[in-house]
Amino acid sequence: MTKDVFVFVEQRDGTILPGGLQAITAGSELAGKTGGRVVVGLVGQDLGALADKLDGSGAAVTYLTDDGALADYNVLKYTRALVGQIEKADPQIVLMASSSMGRDLAPRVAIRLGGGLATDCVELGLDDAGTLVVKRSIYAGKATNNVHFNASKIQIASVRPNTYAAPEGGGSPAERVELPCAADASDDRQVTKEIARTGGGEKDVTEAAIIVSGGRSLKNEDNFKIIAELAAVLDGAVGASRAACDAGYQPHSRQVGLTGKTVTPQLYFACGISGAIQHLAGMRGSRRIVAINTDVEAPIFKVADYGIVGDLFEVVPAVTEAIKQAKAG
Ligand SMILES: Cc1cc2nc3c(=O)[nH]c(=O)nc-3n(C[C@H](O)[C@H](O)[C@H](O)COP(=O)(O)OP(=O)(O)OC[C@H]3O[C@@H](n4cnc5c(N)ncnc54)[C@H](O)[C@@H]3O)c2cc1C
Repeated sequence: MTKDVFVFVEQRDGTILPGGLQAITAGSELAGKTGGRVVVGLVGQDLGALADKLDGSGAAVTYLTDDGALADYNVLKYTRALVGQIEKADPQIVLMASSSMGRDLAPRVAIRLGGGLATDCVELGLDDAGTLVVKRSIYAGKATNNVHFNASKIQIASVRPNTYAAPEGGGSPAERVELPCAADASDDRQVTKEIARTGGGEKDVTEAAIIVSGGRSLKNEDNFKIIAELAAVLDGAVGASRAACDAGYQPHSRQVGLTGKTVTPQLYFACGISGAIQHLAGMRGSRRIVAINTDVEAPIFKVADYGIVGDLFEVVPAVTEAIKQAKAG
C-alpha cells in the first residue's frame, strides 16, 4: 500500500461535478500529511477534455477508464472500473463525494477492496499513527461521531459536498494512466432506463454553492418564479420545504430536510420557511443562512446569520433586483 490518496472525480454529461473537485482539496490536505500524492480517477466516455480540466488541480496522476460501455451510469460497471483504478493506484486512502453516485458506489467499492468505509464525512484528518480519522454528522446534525479506521486496510470515505472548497488550480499537469474497461456481460443485469434530471436539468441542491428555498407561504407553483429568479441571478439552485413539495409547488427532488436532501451550501436563503426541526436537519450545516419571514418569532431566525422580517413577495424581488444592479454596476 502506498501513502497516496485516490480521489474519484464524478462527471456527468461531460461536466465534472463540484463534489469530486472538493474531494481533491480534502485529498491534497491528507496527502500532505501522509507524505504521499493525490491521484484522481475518472470513469465514463470521452474523458480527454475532462482530464485536461483536472490538470493543475494538484493531482499527480489521472487514471482514466474511458469506454462507450460507461457512457451511462451503471453501478456494476462503474464499481468494476473504479476498483480497477484503485487496485492499480494502491492508495492508503480513497475519497469520493457523498453524492447520489458516491453513496451508491462507496459501499460496493469498500466490499470489493475489503476496506473500511465512512460516509458523508464533514472533517478528515489523520491520527498519530498516520491512519485516517473522520468526523460524521449524525442524528440529523445534533451530534457528530469520530470514525477511526483500521490501519492495515484501505481507508475509504465519502465527503459531504461543500465541506471543502474546490482546488484553486495552477499546479502541474497530471500523468495520465489509461485502463481498459473490464466490464462483464453480467453487469448488464443492471439497466439504466432513465437518468432523472432535477427540475429541468437545473442544479441539484446537493451540489449548489447557493440555494434559495421557499416554503408553503409561496402559496402555489407559479409564485416560485420569484424564488427561481433569485436563484438564477446567484447561479444557485431552488430548494423547498416539505410542505411546499407536498402541496405540489416543487418536485420532491428539491426538498431539503430530514426526509429530503441534506445540503451544505455557502449560502442558504429560507424564504417563508418556518424552520421546523425536520427542515433544519437538512440545512443547518449551511455556511451562511438568510431567513426572510413575516413572523419575528419563527424558529428559522434562531439559526439564521441574517434575518429579514418582512413579506417575501416584496423582499425577494427587491433582493434579486439589488443583486442584478450590483452585478451590472
Ligand atoms: C417525519 C417528518 C419528516 C419531515 N421531513 C421534512 C423535510 O425533510 N423537510 C421539511 O421542510 N419539512 C419536513 N417535515 C415537515 C415539517 O415539520 C414542517 O411541517 C415543514 O417544514 C413546514 O414547511 P414550511 O416552513 O414551508 O411551512 P409552515 O410551517 O407553514 O411555515 C410557513 C412560514 O412562512 C411564513 N410566512 C407566511 N407568509 C409569508 C410571507 N408572505 N412572507 C414571508 N414569510 C411568510 C410564516 O410566518 C411561517 O413561518 C417533516 C415532518 C415530519 C413529521
